[in-house]
Amino acid sequence: MTEYKRVDANDIETIRRMINDDTRVIYDTDISEDYGHDELGGIFSLPDVVVKILSAKEASDIMKYANENHISVTPRGAGTGLVGSSVPLEHGIMIDTSLMNHILELDDENLTIDVEPGVLLMDLAAYVEDNDFFYPPDPGEKSATIGGNISTNAGGMRAVKYGVTRDFVRALEVVLPNGDIVNFGGKVVKNSSGYDLKDLMIGSEGTLGLITKATLKLLPKPKKVISLLIPFPSLKDAINTVPLIIKSKSIPTAIEFMQREVIEDAEEYLGKPFPDKQSDAYLLLKFDGNSQEEIEKAYDTVAKLCLEQGAVDVLISDTEEREESIWKARGAFLEAIKGSTTYMDEVDMVVPRNRVNEMVEYLHDLQPEVGLRIKSFGHAGDGNLHAYMLKDNLSDEEWELRVSAAMEKVYAKARDLKGQVSGEHGIGYAKKPYLRESLPIDSLELMNGIKSVFDPNNILNPHKIAQR
Ligand SMILES: Cc1cc2nc3c(=O)[nH]c(=O)nc-3n(C[C@H](O)[C@H](O)[C@H](O)COP(=O)(O)OP(=O)(O)OC[C@H]3O[C@@H](n4cnc5c(N)ncnc54)[C@H](O)[C@@H]3O)c2cc1C
Repeated sequence: MTEYKRVDANDIETIRRMINDDTRVIYDTDISEDYGHDELGGIFSLPDVVVKILSAKEASDIMKYANENHISVTPRGAGTGLVGSSVPLEHGIMIDTSLMNHILELDDENLTIDVEPGVLLMDLAAYVEDNDFFYPPDPGEKSATIGGNISTNAGGMRAVKYGVTRDFVRALEVVLPNGDIVNFGGKVVKNSSGYDLKDLMIGSEGTLGLITKATLKLLPKPKKVISLLIPFPSLKDAINTVPLIIKSKSIPTAIEFMQREVIEDAEEYLGKPFPDKQSDAYLLLKFDGNSQEEIEKAYDTVAKLCLEQGAVDVLISDTEEREESIWKARGAFLEAIKGSTTYMDEVDMVVPRNRVNEMVEYLHDLQPEVGLRIKSFGHAGDGNLHAYMLKDNLSDEEWELRVSAAMEKVYAKARDLKGQVSGEHGIGYAKKPYLRESLPIDSLELMNGIKSVFDPNNILNPHKIAQR
């Protein structure tokens, strides 16, 4: 077990000299408890000092100093992660990127945009759309940073048609644990130039380097967007239709499934009624394209298919107001479920798309067996399901027993279905045991080997992902 040096008064003095702006070096009682956890809650540890960097050079100076003095460093974006990956388990230095929030260059010849890591997803999306471009990755939490999105390979609703964050990263500027500033990738469409170090960084959860700049790929903004809200008599009818939609070769931008109980939580949370509540289960589909005819052709096929499979209705949302109320409710599900219980733990597994119905039914039927309420919703179109296990009024001991038994079962089922432990939230600290169970030892050793090449002194975000 590695011993880390805690930050002392001398270290603080050195860091303050490096940064030369006391408002950006926070320590002692000035550190907000927010820095001790992420949105999962449950895993808590405060850093000794938080440094709000403004440049790669500042990050480099800090990293070099930390490496030489064996102090742990934890990168932090907006702290919206759900697996404890930005929690500084060895305290040390937290590098907060929130002030590196500038959009640097929109290059309309290469269809790319250069951004600093602290730019928020919502600000990036609004900026590119104002310029008639489109950045497709669309995770539910719009106040996450782009650096965090890249580091977790965030997914989101539009993955069915467009893919995930990884598919939209062209190049990265990275500060390595020894303080070197390096560039991986470039403004190129193709790249077969050796091992893809940029791709290694994506999804590495701040364990290999600190991202200080990203070049992202953009698409032209689709001219038309339409959503369909499709009520089904039962969850089984709704979810059994998803593989058929995929098989129909029509490609919606998003296919989400939701149940009435989660919709009701969202209504309460938002204080706004959902446009329809006649059914127990719904599919929510989005289509985009460049003309009304193109979209209508695509959704017509899917609408007919859903009706053949027993859908009660097909509600077309073609006004901005309706569109906003539906997707706002969808975006609020996680927070709404959180608000409906005392504590919860989540599973973010992904299964092959043609097995998604088996997994949803399994989760539904598991509740009486494990004695827990389990709410689920998710990106049914890409096989990525979010299941939330709710503590309600259970004692801490009973909760621990039941939730770990339930988790074991769910991950075992995901393995049976040839799925993976995480579709988009990552492994961080919370999902480490399940990654270990799901991957062969060779893969885990390769991962830890990569970590030791990038970070031989293991100072960067230790104890995360595959590390013991
Ligand atoms: C309500 C809600 C809905 C969500 N919906 C989705 C969803 O649909 N899809 C999805 O994928 N996720 C979702 N998430 C999870 C979360 O928003 C993502 O994981 C997001 O990418 C985290 O970004 P962040 O800026 O908050 O990063 P943080 O939580 O601060 O950090 C996450 C990880 O990235 C590392 N990191 C952050 N910045 C850098 C950097 N510059 N360089 C190196 N490492 C860095 C951290 O060390 C940590 O390991 C949701 C979360 C919430 C609360």
